[in-house]
Amino acid sequence: MKLSEYYGRRVLVDQPEWQSAKTPAPIEELPTMIQHGQNIRCLRCGQETPRRIAALPNGEFYCPRCINLGRVATLNKFYHVPEPNQFTIVQPVLTWTGQLSPLQAAASAEVDAGMKAHRHQLLWAVTGAGKTEMMFKGIAHALGRGERLAVASPRVDVCLELYPRLKAAFQNTSLVLLHGHQELPYRYAQLTVCTTHQLLRFYHAFDNLIIDEVDAFPFAANDALLFASQQAVKEAGGCLYLTATPGPALLRQVKRGKLAVSYLPLRYHGHLLPRIHLRLAPTWRRGVRRGRLPASLLSQLRRTLDAHYCFLLFVPHVADLAPVAAALKKELSQHPFVTVHAADPDRLAKVQGMRDGKYDFLVTTTILERGVTFPGIDVFVLGADDPVFSSSALVQIAGRAGRNIARPTGIVCFWIAGQCRRVRAAVRQVDFMNRKGQALKR
Ligand SMILES: [Zn+2]
Repeated sequence: MKLSEYYGRRVLVDQPEWQSAKTPAPIEELPTMIQHGQNIRCLRCGQETPRRIAALPNGEFYCPRCINLGRVATLNKFYHVPEPNQFTIVQPVLTWTGQLSPLQAAASAEVDAGMKAHRHQLLWAVTGAGKTEMMFKGIAHALGRGERLAVASPRVDVCLELYPRLKAAFQNTSLVLLHGHQELPYRYAQLTVCTTHQLLRFYHAFDNLIIDEVDAFPFAANDALLFASQQAVKEAGGCLYLTATPGPALLRQVKRGKLAVSYLPLRYHGHLLPRIHLRLAPTWRRGVRRGRLPASLLSQLRRTLDAHYCFLLFVPHVADLAPVAAALKKELSQHPFVTVHAADPDRLAKVQGMRDGKYDFLVTTTILERGVTFPGIDVFVLGADDPVFSSSALVQIAGRAGRNIARPTGIVCFWIAGQCRRVRAAVRQVDFMNRKGQALKR
């Protein structure tokens, strides 16, 4: 191992070894676990486990919570070298030459100032606002100051999409991509792109940490990962959370004044989010089983198709796909369509078919990849009150509409069996951002 591989990390090895033996290495030994009453607390993931569960046959203890990063036991030590920020800065740091809209530029300046002051801040930008480009200036200045940075997301697909964009925007900077499904070895780099889970391997490494899609599963409900993000940042480091749908935990921190917040309520093309319309369909599932769709749904679908627009129709479960498709085939026989779900082996081909205009609509259970947008579509959800749809997922789904400058509005309509807290919260969140957006447009 190179000595640099210990910089800002907690490395779990039996014996620390490094290639350059010239200078005596400033490697520190850190404990892995501490006893806390009847529990054992793991210092990597911050989680506590009752002693009887954490016990090993030899009388030692281990942490079952973060075992997929390698087993941490009481006898182990972490080896760590405090982050030295050993980077060579090559100008120009920012090799992206795109343009920001005036609103994006204002949010970008706030992000930049916050990163410079190492603030803890939230950028609440609506879906389709162009969040990634708004971090570029802040990142460029931080890299220019010699800072070590990480851009993390709970979702692997977000990391995979961000990495090439960041690589292209910062061509003179060393980058590394880390996630659980890859075999590439770790290497020291000034800009790390990783899943939030990988942050558990770092310790006081980053001067600024950016977490994108912070409310996506599984980060939102995961104390271990929140702990990881706090540990990964230097004690005086900054943290920027990016999201289109902040959950209650983040909003509480904003209320308490612990988190500064910037809003970007308009999309990149300057328009508001499409409002979510609600329709009642109390017995839709029973009807669908008999081959009938709610009349208001059918007439909406016909209006959309007659206007030569495409649409996405979301249903809650894979089991709903076949009966809904059968009913649609009967009613809209002249329109080609397919169903698709997360584990569908033909998923990519079907999505491509929709983009190529082979289909007039898709019936799906799942939000398609973030990078995938269909221009000018309408978005419908049958059974939006089903518990599989969180309020943030509903806002994300609604946000698939109106992405295109040629048709920046689009129709978003949810069919529900009854009143539902999550649906109401989604509608409220869209209306809240639209009020802020309206105020900006005046
Ligand atoms: Zn642990």
